[in-house]
This record gives sequence, structure tokens and C-alpha cells, in this order.
Amino acid sequence: MLDAAAYQQGLLDVPTLVFVAVCIVGFLGLLLITTWLQQRDVRALAWWGSAYLIGAAAIALWGAPDPWFRLPPDIAEAMIFIACGMIWSGVRLFHGRPLWPLAALAGAASWLLLCQLPGLETGTQARIGLGALVIGIYGVFIALELLRERRKAFYSRTAAILVPSLYAAMFMVPIGMRTFTPDVFAAHWVTVFALASIVYALGTAYIVLVMVKDSHVQFYRKEATTDALTGLLNRRAFIDTATKMQAVQGACGGPVTLLMFDLDHFKSVNDRFGHATGDSVLKVFARTALGSVRATDIVARLGGEEFVAMVPETMEGACHVAERLRAAYETAGLMVDDIAVGSTVSIGMATSYKAVADIDALLLRADEALYLAKRDGRNRFRCAAEEPGSDEARARMAAGKKPAEGMVRRWVARRPKAAAAAVVAR
Ligand code: GH3
Ligand code: MG
Ligand code: MG
Repeated sequence: MLDAAAYQQGLLDVPTLVFVAVCIVGFLGLLLITTWLQQRDVRALAWWGSAYLIGAAAIALWGAPDPWFRLPPDIAEAMIFIACGMIWSGVRLFHGRPLWPLAALAGAASWLLLCQLPGLETGTQARIGLGALVIGIYGVFIALELLRERRKAFYSRTAAILVPSLYAAMFMVPIGMRTFTPDVFAAHWVTVFALASIVYALGTAYIVLVMVKDSHVQFYRKEATTDALTGLLNRRAFIDTATKMQAVQGACGGPVTLLMFDLDHFKSVNDRFGHATGDSVLKVFARTALGSVRATDIVARLGGEEFVAMVPETMEGACHVAERLRAAYETAGLMVDDIAVGSTVSIGMATSYKAVADIDALLLRADEALYLAKRDGRNRFRCAAEEPGSDEARARMAAGKKPAEGMVRRWVARRPKAAAAAVVAR
């Protein structure tokens, strides 16, 4: 156990503390730069890493003993403001927003100019206030950038709270100390500042690395569940989401109806107008389908020119959806890429009230109904015969059992965000 004297002498050894702070901030800068070298697509890492290295250099200049290299304090302070501007720029870049290099450098530039004014000499209250203002502005900028994205992902929500808090702890605590406990501040400000820098650098580097990892996980998860051409769910994601919808609905005797779509004479569209126009037609259908259903409905591309949707509706309710979609696509498919394509869609539907999800059986019954729609002349929908036991299920439902709002959200949350955003409520 260390005694109190050892604590007092040991912990407040300023040169050691400054050395440790410079090492930690510098190594974290190198870690971020190395991570960027491995993941060149995340350019924000280069900005953050460079900001850390500049920050480390600034702490070294500040904390260096007097007879050593003594640059004017303005320079070290301006370097801190450059680092702040670069961290802010990194956050903008990370969220895909344009860089504003002048705004990132404006703090440092105005500092260097304003410090020449009388009354703003080193150590004056006005100078400390001005420094806090510049840092506060960058802190607000960073917080705003993170808040803009907070609804999109868990990591951004966490970062939106933690980063500004750490930021405030780093700069506001020393400023507060100077105001309220000037004696302690005068004796220990370098110690306080070095400790705050260490906490800030470790905290933000950790958050930054978690943000980068999280965005990669999200990217690959989206890739694995999304159809590249249309942006709809792919077959695997559809089975997954539809199984959940059927389980939630079936648990209270509610129905789900599966709608299977097959574009009419699509091979001839490809043959007459080319594969690129065929692809555009598929995208037009995807957009039309999304625009014709509710945000809680599921739409997916099974493959080729075959699409599928699941709606928590009886057959009667789903017939309205099918007819609306068929008619909307009859109009949307008339002209595609300024070519008179005249594409239409045939639809087969099947309803289930089963508590145990069996999507394959539903797909099979909807496919049989789709065959009937094709046979009867295309550009129409047909309904599969009801499954055994549907009458009792409907009677139960008429008695008033409906899925709770929270349960509905369980399948809605699985929809890709981009697709959900594109949905126009019907
Ligand atoms: P039907 O009305 O009976 O459905 O006739 P169809 O011509 O639509 O049916 P068929 O299954 O014979 O043709 C499907 C065509 O879809 C064949 C294939 O070349 C084309 N296709 C499949 N995937 C794609 C794709 O990703 N892009 C394009 N452009 N065409 C595709
Ligand atoms: Mg087909
Ligand atoms: Mg077809």
C-alpha cells in the first residue's frame, strides 16, 4: 500500500503524466491510422488518427519543460483547435456528408489572429473564455452530427451521448476549476488537463472503433438480406421475416396472405428491348409494389421476375391490395426508360391462419393460384382455395383477438431501412 505522501508526490509528477498522455494519445492516433490503412474505404479513420497525432504533439508542446523547445503557446493551442476541427470533419465524412475544410480550420485561424489583440495575452480570463468558446462550438458541431444519425443505429445513439460528455469533461472541468478553485488550478492544471486528455482520447478512440466495426456489420447484414438490383428483401430474408409475421398473427388466430407476383411475358421484354430495359422494368415493379403496400407489409424478390409479398390480412383484404398493385403496375409498366414496354403482372394468393408458420406450403398454394391467373389470360389475380380449419379461425378472429402493437413491430423491425423509408403508406 502506498502512503498518502507517496500518493501526493507520485501521482502529481507532471512530466511523467504529460509523457504518458502524449504516448497514449499518440499511440491511439497510430492505431487509428493503421486501422485506416487496412480499411481504406473508411476515410474518417485517417482524419481521426491525424487529429490524435496533432493532439499528442500539442500536449507535448504544452507540457514541455521550460528550457526545452518553447514555441509560442498560441501554436499549441491552435493545434488543439485543428484537431477538434478534424474530429468533426471525420464524423461528417463517416456519415457520408461533404467536408468543409475551411470550417474545420476556422477555429485555429481565428485563434491565431485574435490572440494578437490587446487583452488576450496568455493567461488572461478573456483568452481562456475565447478558447472555451472555440472548443465549445466544435463540441456542439460534433454533437449535432452524431444526433442527426442517432435514430439510425445503436452505436450512433451511444456515441451521441458519450462523445459530447467526454468532450465537456476534458475542456470544461479545467475551465471550471480555474474559475471556482483558482489555487488548485494554478498548482495542478497541467495534471488535470493531461488526465482529462487521456480519458477523452481513450473514450473517443473506443467509440470511433466501435462505430466503424458496427457500420461494417450493418453493411454486410444488409448485403446478405437485400436483393442487389431492386433493394427489396431477398428470398432468405423474406422467409425469415414472413415466418415471424405468420407466427405473430397465427398466435392470436389472425390471418396472413401471401401474394406471389410473376411479370407477364417478361422473356419477350428482354428479347425485344434488351436486358438493361428488363432490369429497369424489374426496378419499376419493385417501386410500384412498395408504393402499394403498408410499411408493415413485407415485399421481396424471390428471383428473376418473381416477387412476393406478405400482408397481415384476410383474403378479402389482400384482394384490395392485389388489385391496387396490379392496376398501379399496369400504368407504371406502360413506359419504362421512355420505351413503350407495356408490362403487366399476374398474381396468385393464399391465406393461412395457422399458428405454426409454414411459408413453403403457402408459397406452393400461391404458386398454384398464380398458374390459374396466367392460364386465365394474365394481368389479373387469382386466390387459392382456403386451407382446412379457416372457418373456425375466422370466427375466433371475429371475436376480437388482434396482435398487440409491440408484436407487429417484431417483424417490421426486420425490414431493411432503405426499403421501409421508400414505402408510401396506403
Ligand atoms: P410468363 O408470362 O408465362 O411468366 O412468361 P415469362 O416470359 O415472363 O416467363 P419466363 O419464366 O419464361 O421468363 C422469365 C425471364 O426472366 C427469363 C429470364 O431471362 C428473365 N430474367 C430472369 N432474371 C432476370 C434479371 O435479373 N434481369 C432480366 N433483365 N431478366 C431476367
Ligand atoms: Mg417466371
Ligand atoms: Mg413471367
